[in-house]
Amino acid sequence: MNQRIDAWLQCISCRSIYPLDYRGYACEKCGDLLDVVLDLDKVEVRSWSIFRDRSRGVWRYRELIPVDFSKRVTLREGGTPLIDCKRLNEWVGVKELYLKFEGANPTGSFKDRGMTVAVTKALELNVRGVICASTGNTAASLAAYASRAGLPCITIIPEGAALGKIFQAIAYGAILIKIKGSFDQALKIVISVVGELGLYLLNSINTWRLEGQKTLGYELAEEVDGEYLVSVPVGNCGNIAAIWKGFSELKYLGLIDEAPRMFGVQAEGASPFAKMVEECREKIEPVENPQTIASAIRIGRPVNWKKALRAVRESRGGVEVVSDGEILEAQRAIARLEGLGVEPASAASVAGVKKMVAEGRIDRGEKVVCICTGHLLKDPNPDLFKPFTILETEPDLQKIIKELTEITSIIKIQ
Ligand SMILES: *Cc1c(COP(=O)(O)O)cnc(C)c1O
Ligand SMILES: [Zn+2]
Repeated sequence: MNQRIDAWLQCISCRSIYPLDYRGYACEKCGDLLDVVLDLDKVEVRSWSIFRDRSRGVWRYRELIPVDFSKRVTLREGGTPLIDCKRLNEWVGVKELYLKFEGANPTGSFKDRGMTVAVTKALELNVRGVICASTGNTAASLAAYASRAGLPCITIIPEGAALGKIFQAIAYGAILIKIKGSFDQALKIVISVVGELGLYLLNSINTWRLEGQKTLGYELAEEVDGEYLVSVPVGNCGNIAAIWKGFSELKYLGLIDEAPRMFGVQAEGASPFAKMVEECREKIEPVENPQTIASAIRIGRPVNWKKALRAVRESRGGVEVVSDGEILEAQRAIARLEGLGVEPASAASVAGVKKMVAEGRIDRGEKVVCICTGHLLKDPNPDLFKPFTILETEPDLQKIIKELTEITSIIKIQ
């Protein structure tokens, strides 16, 4: 255990406190989720200078992550590029637009930020194996970190998971259980069997995941100047809550003056969180049969909704809902205008900002950061990018020149 960091686990509802070596993911008294709470008055961080000489990434912020740094299971996650988009910003309609390219993480999604911390925690707890339910990215990431830690890994995957992600989990050696059902059903199964099998549960109800993902907030605070908004695609509601936790801690420590407003974007057919916020309700109403092309956010019962609600309310942010058509249009625009490849769920963050600008909810003069959560190659589907040009022809020079001449004559030379 890292003795230098004073921290504990605390129930988000009844405030019961648990020690850091508590193995459960829920409060024993009321069943609600836990938070890792740092004693920020005792943390040895009073300025950015302590971090500045270190390489970028999750473990740059080790004083704020209460697991044993010397035993970390890492693939050098985090430290992803922040891309200034000078063409896409016009398409979206804002003055300044940045994409935080989380596809650059070791397994191609932000999930790695959480897994490096949570799998380190799993080793500290001496667990005999790890398990998760996953639409794909959590499985890919957990499988990789479990390999690195030498832990057996089981993943339960719903129908419709993207091929790239399944392939990763297979390649890293996880045991895959594919169910004819939804993510929500897969998670329910995991929760029911985890105790009996003596495995450690690594879905985002495990708050240690969020402890790594909060570094997305830390990185943005270091990289982006002035005032800005953050747009996040929302599925199980963990990431938006984690990023907000990061900002909140920095504000308490005096490392930032103001935290940015947080906007959560959901897909139309899987938008229980957005609906709850829009209708000013205090309780989520699950969607029984969630549908969207963006499989990473195809979730009907988001487990972290209370934490995410806190993020949106405390930051004076908001929510937006986008259609699959709008998501695909944004994915295409990101690829064609900036040369950046993101998976559909990631593109929802951009689609949501475009829509909020059109609705007048976001001012055109704003600076906006969109979290592009996962890599294009996770979900390779050329059909979604139609129309595109592929010339099928013999390796015949004259023929190719002739065809190219025809094509280039219709490309406008400016
Ligand atoms: C997991 C994931 C999300 C959703 O994050 P939550 O924490 O579940 O809200 C969005 N995009 C991608 C690519 C993901 O893998
Ligand atoms: Zn409780």
